[in-house]
Amino acid sequence: MIYADNAATTRMSDGALDTFVTLAKETYGNPSSLYSIGQRAKEVLEKAREDIAAVIGAGPREITFTSGGSEADNQAILSAAALGERKGKKHILSSAFEHHAVLHTLEKLKKQGFEVTLLDVHEDGLVRPEEVARAIREDTCLVTIMYANNEIGTIQPIREIGAICRERGVLFHTDAVQAVGHLPIDVEAENIDLLSASAHKFHGPKGVGFLYARKGTLLTSLIEGGAQERGKRAGTENLPGIASMAKALQEASQSMERNAEYLTSKRDRLIAGLGAIPHSALNGDAVRRLPGNVSFCFEGIEGESLLLLLDDKGIQASSGSACTSGSLDPSHVLLAIGRVHDVAHGSLRLTIGEDITDEEVETIIRSVAETVEYLRSFSPVWRDLMSGKSSFIL
Ligand SMILES: *Cc1c(COP(=O)(O)O)cnc(C)c1O
Repeated sequence: MIYADNAATTRMSDGALDTFVTLAKETYGNPSSLYSIGQRAKEVLEKAREDIAAVIGAGPREITFTSGGSEADNQAILSAAALGERKGKKHILSSAFEHHAVLHTLEKLKKQGFEVTLLDVHEDGLVRPEEVARAIREDTCLVTIMYANNEIGTIQPIREIGAICRERGVLFHTDAVQAVGHLPIDVEAENIDLLSASAHKFHGPKGVGFLYARKGTLLTSLIEGGAQERGKRAGTENLPGIASMAKALQEASQSMERNAEYLTSKRDRLIAGLGAIPHSALNGDAVRRLPGNVSFCFEGIEGESLLLLLDDKGIQASSGSACTSGSLDPSHVLLAIGRVHDVAHGSLRLTIGEDITDEEVETIIRSVAETVEYLRSFSPVWRDLMSGKSSFIL
């Protein structure tokens, strides 16, 4: 089996798994309890907070643990909106290709009287900093732009956007779920005020993540109850998950450069191999993209059929994001970069992991090429394209 859907989720590392099991077995105390096994749990919790903060250049008190990336996105945006509302600022700036955890939260705020501007994403899958600068208004309380896109892998000019937001006095949130553990991040140098991350995207466990909030940025609690997480997130802490996340992040940051170099070389071989398939196109910039992300459109086929046939050949891939699969609408990300519906339907996302071999890369290229050709052989859309009844776009 070749697992090429690491943007959907990753396999836990052995280190993260060992940490999880050890803590669940041995340090089962409640960190809020005063006796020794509780206090031991509290120490593990705070050590995890320090270790995680250090990786992104933050202080431990700026890290709040959450149930994952979606919760962190919700909390970041709702908190910034609450702060803005107090000052009479009810405009939020974002982009059209954000994750649904961001887009749906913005929809909710619109119903509460907020105005939302979604910037266009260019064909290269990148937001332009000068367009962010132009769209910021007097009443803008938040700019939220993702660090790296989960479908097409493009890496946004975060440092430039951060500098603009700082200069204009607007809070800047970035959904960095695809970037943390894969790209070097420094919240100070990049002027990030709020940042979301999720453990299962960097070989940690599912159901745990964190929100970085710059000192002085008051968070709104989404869950009421006890005083855990300094009153910002009630509920007994998921200690095994949190410690395991810290372990996974430390491992990822230690091998980040080596992994990125390795993945980039395999990614570029895949892009070259799949690019040789007629009437295909890479989605998003070829260079400013995550080391493990390969996203293509193939004209004249359905991405869903391609996936199922690849699965039969032992290759696990995706057509877009895991969140939209099961719906027949083409991906909002591909539409945002200007792919027309028919083309967007023929998409394939391969997100490779550090354990991929050269042989597997060649198997993927061969299998995709064969399967695309096979699907085209009985596709009415392809027949019309070949007979000239309709014209090729790619
Ligand atoms: C996976 C993902 C999320 C959601 O994270 P969960 O931990 O699954 O809730 C949010 N944003 C992006 C960009 C993602 O890739």
